[in-house]
Amino acid sequence: MPRPAPSASKLAAKLSGALPKLGHSRPMVVLLAGKDKSLLRRHPWVFAGAIATVRAADSGRPEPLVMQPGELVDVVSNDGRWLASGGYCEASSIRVRCLSFSRDEVIDAAWVTEKIAAAIARRAGLIERTDARRLVFGEADGLPGLIVDHYGPWAVMQILSAAMELWRDAIVAAIQAAGFTQIYERSEASARQKEGLEAREGVVLGQAPAGPMPMIEDGVHHLVDIVAGHKTGAYLDQRDNRELVMRLAQGKRVLNCFCYTGGFSHAARRGGAASVVSVDSSEPALAQAREIELLNLAQGEAGSSGQEASEWIASNAFDLLKSFERTGRVFDLIVLDPPKFAPSQHHLDKAARAYKELNLKAMQLLAPGGLLLTFSCSGAVSVELFQKIVAGAVIDAGVQMQLLKRLEAGSDHPMLMTHPEGEYLKGLMLARV
Ligand code: SAH
Repeated sequence: MPRPAPSASKLAAKLSGALPKLGHSRPMVVLLAGKDKSLLRRHPWVFAGAIATVRAADSGRPEPLVMQPGELVDVVSNDGRWLASGGYCEASSIRVRCLSFSRDEVIDAAWVTEKIAAAIARRAGLIERTDARRLVFGEADGLPGLIVDHYGPWAVMQILSAAMELWRDAIVAAIQAAGFTQIYERSEASARQKEGLEAREGVVLGQAPAGPMPMIEDGVHHLVDIVAGHKTGAYLDQRDNRELVMRLAQGKRVLNCFCYTGGFSHAARRGGAASVVSVDSSEPALAQAREIELLNLAQGEAGSSGQEASEWIASNAFDLLKSFERTGRVFDLIVLDPPKFAPSQHHLDKAARAYKELNLKAMQLLAPGGLLLTFSCSGAVSVELFQKIVAGAVIDAGVQMQLLKRLEAGSDHPMLMTHPEGEYLKGLMLARV
């Protein structure tokens, strides 16, 4: 049984002289007894179920408190110990997203600017390989719910939490201060709904983009649609794995499932693949992929083989794998990069079955010695669980596979050691023996 929270006056007395100067006027989120453990481990989320009460502290505000979305709060343990400061969101099951675990830290516009500048500075080394990279990655950069990506002259920002929405003006100013004169916002509906926020998309600074823009990565040309493309335009997180495919592809028959605009396919062509079959259920994605292929051919950078070495198939990947099995088609390198099958824990069983079936079918199409690069971008599926599911597929497929390498997102998508949920993209590189 959780102990009842102490009364407001008792708590205020306990805390008097203990809270940071600025904290005095902030509302206080008091946790249930025993619910302070994750915060003591500096995990940045406070779930609704961990909260005993929200108090006005000594702000003089009437109770019950009406909280502003993203309002700064102090989080305290049931016995009155200060734990963190963060942004409050009444609409979300993640009620507080912590911004600081240090009592002296002042959270204001200057703090936001500094955090963004530091995140950008940490990515400096990547610029040599590409003109597109993630600059700010939410919790991992101490800015929960904020994404900022860089594509050529554009910064694309996504504000997905009330905690960050409160600081929107400061965020825009900080991106500008980093040298960007063109900023586009992709604060999309699905994630924001959970925080009770409306979608907001459009140009923040500069002229509207004229259409998909060129991007170059490890010598491969891409076109990125920052207005309507997936995520903020591209799957930047797969950069290192595309580069790996490029290095492995020489002379190989490649199958790229869930190809979207063909990221892995173009890398395979550049790496000298003998042939590349790419499948996606989206016709517009495939049309864009073909355009990108022509762009690389025109630059003489699609590898030695011509356009005939490439096949783009609009189909359900599951069906296509089955039909390839029937016709006895084999491949030397298969990439499986499906969409998020498990958007939350509730979808785990169904997702596990889908991952297993997909991997099982792909393994059966591999030539001896063939490689399978298989991914899951479901945050709810842990690295361990994914490996277990794929091992299950190996057993049921009646094949033998070696694990050569674990795969992950690039270093511009870091994971905070205290927030393992941030590691959403995981993959395995397997060889059929
Ligand atoms: N591998 C890509 C990103 C994949 S995103 C890259 O590196 O850029 C997932 C893709 O799967 C989307 O393009 C979506 O259109 C496609 N998709 C979703 N369900 C599918 C299905 N059942 N069969 C084939 N493609 C599917």
